[in-house]
Formats: sequence, structure tokens, C-alpha cells
Amino acid sequence: MEKRITGNVLSDGLCVGYIVKWTDNSAPLDYKKAQITEEIRQTLLNEEAECDRFREVKNAVAAKLTSLLSCAENSTVAAGDAERAEIIRSYITILNDPELENDVVQRIREQKVFLTEALTLTVQEYSDDMSALEDEYLKQRAQDFEQLFAMLLSYASGNAQKKVHIENPCILAAKALSPIDLSEINKNLLLGIICEEGGKTSHTAIIARSYAIPMISGIPYAEIQENDKAVIDTEKKLCVLNPEAATVSFYTEKNIQLQKEKEYFNALVEQRAVSEDGVHIELMANIGSVREVSQAVAQRADGIGLFRTEFLLSEAGTDFPSEENQFKIYRAVLQAMDGKIVTIRTFDIGGDKVYPCVHLPEEENPFLGWRGIRYCTDNIKLFFPQLRALLRAAVYGNLYIMFPMITTEEEVKNLLSLVERIKKDLHKEKIPFGRNVKIGIMIETPAAALIADTLAQSVDFFSIGTNDLTQYTLAADRNNAKVAHLYRENHPAVLQLIKMTIDAGKKYKKHVCVCGEMAGNPLFTQALLNLGLRCFSMTPVNIQKIKKEILSAKIMDADKKQKKEVR
Ligand code: PEP
Ligand code: MG
Repeated sequence: MEKRITGNVLSDGLCVGYIVKWTDNSAPLDYKKAQITEEIRQTLLNEEAECDRFREVKNAVAAKLTSLLSCAENSTVAAGDAERAEIIRSYITILNDPELENDVVQRIREQKVFLTEALTLTVQEYSDDMSALEDEYLKQRAQDFEQLFAMLLSYASGNAQKKVHIENPCILAAKALSPIDLSEINKNLLLGIICEEGGKTSHTAIIARSYAIPMISGIPYAEIQENDKAVIDTEKKLCVLNPEAATVSFYTEKNIQLQKEKEYFNALVEQRAVSEDGVHIELMANIGSVREVSQAVAQRADGIGLFRTEFLLSEAGTDFPSEENQFKIYRAVLQAMDGKIVTIRTFDIGGDKVYPCVHLPEEENPFLGWRGIRYCTDNIKLFFPQLRALLRAAVYGNLYIMFPMITTEEEVKNLLSLVERIKKDLHKEKIPFGRNVKIGIMIETPAAALIADTLAQSVDFFSIGTNDLTQYTLAADRNNAKVAHLYRENHPAVLQLIKMTIDAGKKYKKHVCVCGEMAGNPLFTQALLNLGLRCFSMTPVNIQKIKKEILSAKIMDADKKQKKEVR
């Protein structure tokens, strides 16, 4: 009988297909298997041999991860390989942490347990601690930790070779699916993924999104039958198990329409974004790591409108990222973009962005607290190396340096003089740096938008961060589902602030872009064009969608309409 279950959407899309169950990981950590009687323990346990075995298992897992990493790094096939590589790297970092080895070895010796027990106890303790945290992101990282331990445990118990072989296109169903599991599967054969567990910020979900594989969680694994048909319809947050013939033909038809749309988008890649009446609109890419540049290039982005550099902090462990490392990364992005604008935003720390190398105090209102430029200017040990690295990298391309979370003119003046000071230092040290680098700011607070006219006189460009601008204008937390109905980017108050910013840019001939999520949502394209916006920056996969809107837009009409609206 057909069963319709509402789930959580982890990656958008629609698919119809047969189910293959990922039985291998249906219980990623089978604690019971690790239970051993006292009698066996006393006769068989040799602590030192177990410690040696841990090192062997660790080496085997490290070798496996390294080979998966090299496949991901050398693959030119799919954009998602970049995310996959990033995730595998984070597993390797956890695995190489000396504390992990100490913990396991100490447990074997002191608690007199077998390796499988020691692994189980260690992961139980770590993940209980991490899952108890309120923060959704850290909870998801606890899952990464468990998944790495599941891998160690499966090697330790000799189950590592047991794998599900996927030979035909299918929908994969799992209780929990780790990014490593996903690494081993040919993504071209994955029509969709159904999971019982997993959140939107889990690494598996990130990979699924980057491969555009529809994924839904919250579907009880026990209710799923191998070889049954299933449908995933993320628009309706729906998973249909064992669908009736009419449901299958409805979704098959819908899927054909979507495929046609996809082909249409692919055909747009080489086309310039010019409106029906001949106005060129810049379409730029938002990226969060150096590896995503290839996606921006593949979508023929006109530039990078936002490079969120915070990812460097999540990869850096407990130390700040060095000037030299940052320099190499920024240089690589500039070189890859080959003279096109590359807007690199300085660290936007604080709010919901918390990293191990940054010691943020507990705050009552972190989004209204020590965030973005407020934190960085107070922590020059973190900030100066970034500014130095940026100015040095500017030699290699068209760099726009952007500062987040601006509210006052004094902040801007202070930042400009910091940049000048660093230029002087570099000059004295005879280190080459970009002299013509453009300096701009995010307009993401109502205060900045309201004084845009003044700020425009000091900076080279504006980028409107509608994600924060909306939450700060409407006093509606962007991460709180309870006030999601109030969070509307097209609220007249937000539109008014966007308009003020665009007008100020026009008046002083300063480049203005929108880099918040609003820019990548086709529902808002015409409204933003009407407000006079000529540069949109978004996640690379949305570029063709927005281009389609622009190709049929009439800007002149929009301009006239805008004048009428203002009157
Ligand atoms: C924004 O606020 O719109 C923005 C682009 O920055 P972030 O989402 O990183 O806060
Ligand atoms: Mg922001």
C-alpha cells in the first residue's frame, strides 16, 4: 500500500526509482556487538596487542581516506568532489589528532577492554558530550565524529569489506549515511537518498546538494522495503513509499519536465545575462572555499561576489590560519578567476559563526554582539595577517576587499587607515602588494543602509547582505523557525533599505551588488531589477536560473515603473 511520509528536506529535487537499502550502515555503531563476557576477556585480552591493533586499524583507515581524498581531488567530473575532498580532509584531521589515540589506548590499558569496546566507549562519551550541546552545527559535527568511529569500528571488527554494490540507478535508503559511505558510491547512479537521521548542515547533506541529489531525512528506516519503488518530492517535503501506479506516472511526467528545464539551464551557460531590452546584468558567484571556484568558472560567473573566508577558520583547528597559507589561497582564487572581480570578505566571526581557534565569550545576543568587523578590529593577531595576505595576493588579479557588519562611518574610516598602515608596512618590508585594490563594505545592517549616502563617499563598492539586513530590519532571527513567517526579504522596509543603498551607489558611481540569498531567488529578480540592481551574486548552481529571469526581463519598463512608484 502507498505510504506518504513528510520528512526534512536536505537537498532539493524530485526522483522516482527503486530502493536499495544501505544495510551496511543501518546501525552505524552496533554497541551490542562489542560486548564481551568476562571469561573471554580474562583469557584473551592482551592490552599491548590491542593497542598495536588500534594503530594498524588507524593506518588502514588513514590509507583508505587518503585514497578517497586523492580520487576526490583528482576528479574533474563533478562539482561535489570539492566538498567531498573537504570533508575527507576533516576526517583525516580528527584521525590524526594525538588526543584520539591517547584516549583509545588509555582506555584499553586502564579499563582493560578490547579495541572494539574502547572505540565504542570513546565515541559514546564524545558524542554524548557533543549531542548535549544546543548548537545544531556542533550536533551535526558529532555525527561526523560518530561516522569516523563507525569506520574505525568496522575495520577493527573485520567488517570493512562488507559493502552494498550499486549497479543501476536507484534511490538509496539508510538509517544514517556518512559522507565516507557516500564517497564510495557512484553518484551518477544515485537518483535520491532517503535517511532516517541527518540534518541540513550534515556533511552528507552538503555533498548531496553539491551533486544535486535529492535527499530527505526523517523517514523511518524500518518502514522501507528493499526493491520497492519510492518517490522523493522535496517541494512537498514528501517521500512516497511503494507508490501507486497513478502516483508513479504523475511524478515521472513531472520529472521529465524538470529534466527539460535542466537541459535548458545547461544551454544558457555560454549566454550573457542581457535583458530583453539589451541591459547587461552581472551574475557573480558566492563561494565558501577555494575549491568552489571551479563551480563558479563552470557556470561562467562574471566574478566572485562573495568569498566567505570563515571556512579557513574551521579548517585551521585551534590555531589561526597563517598569513602565508591565506596568501596562497587568495592568490589561487584570483588566478583562477583570471582578471575578473574577486570579492573577498574578511572573517565574519560571531553570531552563529563559531570556530575552535576563536575564543568568543558567551553573549546574550551574539548576533548583536562581537561580530564581524567588531571582533576583527579588536583581535589584530587574527585580522592583520588576513589583511596582509589579501594585499599581497592582490598582485595576482582584480581583488575587492570587503568588510562585514558595518554600522558607522568611523568603522569605515578606521578600516581604511588600517589598510593604509599595512600597505606602508609591506612597502617598508619590500614585499609586493596590490596598490589598486578596491575596498568596500557589506550593507547588512539597517544603520549602514540608512547612511549609505555618507558611506558611499568613503568606499569603492557596496554589497548588500540581504540575509542579515532582513533579520536586523525585521527583528526576526534568520535561524529561528518560529519567526520564519516574519523573515521576508521582500518586506517593504527591507526593499526600501536596498533601494537607498542602490541609489547611493548610483549617485557616487560605486559598484553595488546583492550577495544575500535573495539574489539567487528567481522570485525576487524582477523586484531587484526594478530597484535598479545590476549585479547579483549567488551560489553558482543558481546562476542559470536567474539568467533565465533576466533574459525575459524588461529593464527600461522596470526603470519607468520605478520612477512611477517613487512618485
Ligand atoms: C548576508 O548577510 O546576506 C550575507 C551574505 O552574509 P552571511 O550570510 O555570510 O551572513
Ligand atoms: Mg551577513
